[in-house]
Amino acid sequence: MKKIWGQAREELERIVGADNFATWIAPLDLTGIDDGTAVIACPTRFLSDWVSRHYSNDILKALDIVGHPAQRVSFDLTTQKTARIRTAPAPRHQPVPVTLRMTGRGDDDLAAPLDSRFTFDNFVVGKPNELAHAAARRVAEGGPVTFNPLFLYGGVGLGKTHLMHAIAREIQIRQPEARVLYLSAEQFMYRFVQALRERTIMDFKEMFRTVSTLMVDDVQFIAGKDSTQEEFFHTFNALVDQGKQIVISADRAPGEIKDMEERIRSRLSCGLIVDLHPTDYELRLSILQSKTEQFRATHPDLVMAPGVLEFLAARITSNVRVLEGALQRLFAFASLMGREISLDMTQECLADILRSSDRKLTIEEIQRKVAEHYNIRLSDMIGPKRVRTVARPRQIAMYLSKQMTSRSLPEIGRRFGGRDHTTIMHGVRKIEELRGTDRSIAEDLDMLRRLLEA
Ligand code: ADP
Ligand code: MG
Repeated sequence: MKKIWGQAREELERIVGADNFATWIAPLDLTGIDDGTAVIACPTRFLSDWVSRHYSNDILKALDIVGHPAQRVSFDLTTQKTARIRTAPAPRHQPVPVTLRMTGRGDDDLAAPLDSRFTFDNFVVGKPNELAHAAARRVAEGGPVTFNPLFLYGGVGLGKTHLMHAIAREIQIRQPEARVLYLSAEQFMYRFVQALRERTIMDFKEMFRTVSTLMVDDVQFIAGKDSTQEEFFHTFNALVDQGKQIVISADRAPGEIKDMEERIRSRLSCGLIVDLHPTDYELRLSILQSKTEQFRATHPDLVMAPGVLEFLAARITSNVRVLEGALQRLFAFASLMGREISLDMTQECLADILRSSDRKLTIEEIQRKVAEHYNIRLSDMIGPKRVRTVARPRQIAMYLSKQMTSRSLPEIGRRFGGRDHTTIMHGVRKIEELRGTDRSIAEDLDMLRRLLEA
């Protein structure tokens, strides 16, 4: 088992990335594969819940790759791994976990590097992000007017994490003595829970006391997680009172984060709030040009027909991450085939991406498909019935509408018979939750998505 798990772990690290691996997978152990079920020893319920919800498929994939396929994962909370953790010598001088990015001092061997691509130099500025960029720069430069906290928000893939890393790096360059702590809200929560469990909460608090800049990414994540929110609030207040700089990011404005305590929300809002707007054509084109130039610096033989970048900027409108992915694939394809990048080749190579950005799926189509699938009337999607057999499919349609269209919650609410956006949010959350625990719902969702994408 040890050998199998050793190999599977290597695959997993590759699949989920080093940070996620260290946070979620490293504490696990494979104790057996029984009748198609991989039994994983896990030190806490919290960890097993999280892993089963987010990484079950990756674990199965990894086992499959190393030649020991299983169909299910089950978690065992009682096995030796817990004991092993307890008997391991406590790394007392290292309260800072591997996945935290601590810069400064230089003696902190646990400091993981910031993503070296995420610098201000590599950040292309355009109308949609100029304000966020300017504010980020100002905080990084520590000028006379500081914004505390700086709250950056915007949709996925628009550059929040990029800007946060850029700030951290810049502060590090300007003030080598400063201690900048960058972590995701997820990591904050996990470390907090771990500190509670291992009774190292004082170390946990101490770690923040020595920080000069605290950056927490994707803070919407701790909404609704009461004790974590509470701890975050204390940490936050203590640092603000000491005049430490705080930078927060979220996928929406503070006022729109549901289940966030009012006092936290108002505290978050008392600095500067700036948002990253969805990209426009000009910005997308500039980003594509900049990334192509970067690539050309190491691949001088790259040949690209005129109009290709313009075509991509016009057709791929979702977010910068998708845009980058498309370009990367194009470069890889071109170098494999040893061909110049023509418009034809672009269309062929990116057919799937283009198709999915192409199709403007409507909420009505989603409602229709879901109603069909569950054998209920289309009018029930909009109507008031609350029985489970109708309400659940309705929530599934809400979830898919949120996932597969760019409509906002209030807009989706309107199309579901004028429901409030909080009702939609609740539905989306519910399905998100069920997706991790209820296999048949997860399968339904996959199938519906495939049908709708076809
Ligand atoms: P978010 O955290 O908002 O979801 P990221 O910061 O992870 O988004 O950005 C997604 C990808 O797009 C990253 O690779 C990032 O470097 C790139 N990116 C986003 N905005 C820009 C920009 N303005 N210029 C260059 N690259 C960008
Ligand atoms: Mg991010």
